[in-house]
This record gives sequence, structure tokens and C-alpha cells, in this order.
Amino acid sequence: MRLAITVKVFYHPDQLLYDPKNEMTSRGARHYPERPERVTRILESLKSGGLEIEKVQETLDSSLLLEVHSNEYIEFLTSLPPVVDEQVPSIFNLRGKSLDKPKLEKLSLMAKLGIYFFDIGTPISPHLYKSAVAAASTSHRLAVHLLENDQGVALCRPPGHHAMRDMGGGYCFLNNVAVCAVSLLKSVSKVAILDLDYHHGNGTQELFYQRSDVYYVSIHGDPTHNFPYYWGYEDEQGQGNGLGYTKNFPLAKSSGEQEYLKKLNEALLALDSYSPDVLLISLGLDTLGSDGLFGLNLTEESFNKMGVMIKQFGFKKLGVILEGGYNLDAIGSAFLKFIQAFTE
Ligand SMILES: [Zn+2]
Repeated sequence: MRLAITVKVFYHPDQLLYDPKNEMTSRGARHYPERPERVTRILESLKSGGLEIEKVQETLDSSLLLEVHSNEYIEFLTSLPPVVDEQVPSIFNLRGKSLDKPKLEKLSLMAKLGIYFFDIGTPISPHLYKSAVAAASTSHRLAVHLLENDQGVALCRPPGHHAMRDMGGGYCFLNNVAVCAVSLLKSVSKVAILDLDYHHGNGTQELFYQRSDVYYVSIHGDPTHNFPYYWGYEDEQGQGNGLGYTKNFPLAKSSGEQEYLKKLNEALLALDSYSPDVLLISLGLDTLGSDGLFGLNLTEESFNKMGVMIKQFGFKKLGVILEGGYNLDAIGSAFLKFIQAFTE
């Protein structure tokens, strides 16, 4: 008899506290789509699939956050009052004009938002930092788990892959997958990150762009016409010691499952030749054709095929970290089908 392989799933309840109501878009205001229900819906689905869920209790050590993000950015996030009227960034320090510390400290909150965020998809709202730290703590918990186990899942929310060293953006504040990678690298020598969100993970790419101990590979909507627009092109391949350790696979919006799986196979061949100690997957569900906001033409069943293909490569250890995905009626099922590929 073949024993079922279990995959443990982690999440921190404080992730659900941040719940902004408004998002500004180029076409006007709408309900903020990066909602707490994203995690609760996926949890319900994974529970119904018999997966073991663990509520994370502990908060990660802040020194780990400072290995990923700048002191100044973390100080700004920690300075936000826990209860604050909802505000959306509306002006940006585009030319990066530097202000001395006394001037910076006197700036209004609105003006600071334009320094520490690169777009308007990052509303300030009660418990922002508490939820962001809870998501990063979930990711850290996964790293600890992976030292003793072969597989695990971190349901992180808010997501993280757009968060850069000194700036948030695209619904992201702290880079969860980077926290997991940095934490793992204290015990292993090579980590690979496969980013399968619809959007390029510009934050994750930036954080490891000059390093060879983290190989970043991303399949995403062509940035010519998709967020984050200025990053994610094929010719971005790393720099210095990191040259050759970043690989981007942009896809046309009309791409369906066949094109996607072809690129996934190429990405996995590249990752296989790197032979990482741990493969982390930044899993976005916004590639679903039904996403509503974004989407390639993938179905919930496509996620199972993706999982099966990844499993066949037999990576030593595998961690899955939630990124985007906004169709509340489809993300639970797609996530479960992906994970089931590793439990069969
Ligand atoms: Zn996305």
C-alpha cells in the first residue's frame, strides 16, 4: 500500500486583520481585491482536501526582516499608527530626490507614502504592519519546517513578491518568499525561487539580482502590457556575482495552458541544472482565466498539471508560498489541485 504524503500548511491569524476597502485604478475606484477572504477560502479548500493546517503563533525576529529590507523602510512601516484612516498614495518621489533626515521626518504621512511605495496599490489601513509581519512570520515558519521536512505551504497574505528592498508596491509590503530564502540560507547553500504569479516579481528579482546563491526564475504576463511594466524582460539576467542567476519568461496575454506548460518545462530544466537544496514556489492564482482582474487562459485543472510537472523533476525540498489570485470562487480549488499533485 502506498502511503499518502502529507503537506503541512501554515498561516498566521493576524494576516486577516488588514482589510482596506478602496483601491484606485486608472478606471476609478473599486473594492480592494487583496482581501482576507483570499486566505480563508484557500484554507477551507485545503482543509476539505484533508491537509494539515497549523496556525503560526510566533513572530519572526526583526533582524531577519532587516536582511531583506532597508532600515529606513522598516522604520517607516513600524512608525505607522496601528489604527489610521485609510489613505492611498497619490504623489511619488519619482526622481528619487534625497531629503535629509530632519526634513524626511517632518513630512506628512501622504508625502512619505510617495517615498516608500512605488504605486497606488498599497493603501494604508489599520493593522497593515501587523498583518505584513504575520505573513512574513508564516514564511519564516515554513523555512524552519523545511529544514526537517521535504514539503510545506505558507499561505501568506498580504503577498510579497513586488516588495523591494526599500519600497512596497502592488499589494506587497514585506517580501515573504525572500524572508523564507534568507532564513533557509543560514542552513543550506543554494535556494531557487520559481515565481508563477501572473505578474513578474520585481521585488524578489531585485533582492537577489547580484547573488548566485538564489536563482530567481519567473513566468509572467509580458511586462510591455502588464504590471509591473518596468521589470521582467528576458534580457534581465542578473548582475555581478548574480549574472546568469535570474531568468525571465514573459508570456503574451492570450497564452493558454499549452504555451504555459512549455515555458514551465523550460524553467524547470534551468532550475534542475542549478540543483537547489530547496525550491520555493511563489504561487499566484491570478493566471486563472477566471481571475477577473488579470489572468492567462489557465483553468483550475491546469494547476494540477503544473504540480505534476514540477513533482516529476524530483527537487530535494519544496516550499509553496502564496502570492496573488483574486477570484474567491476559484482560488481555493486551484490551490488544492496544485498541492494534490505532491500528495498523490
Ligand atoms: Zn499577481
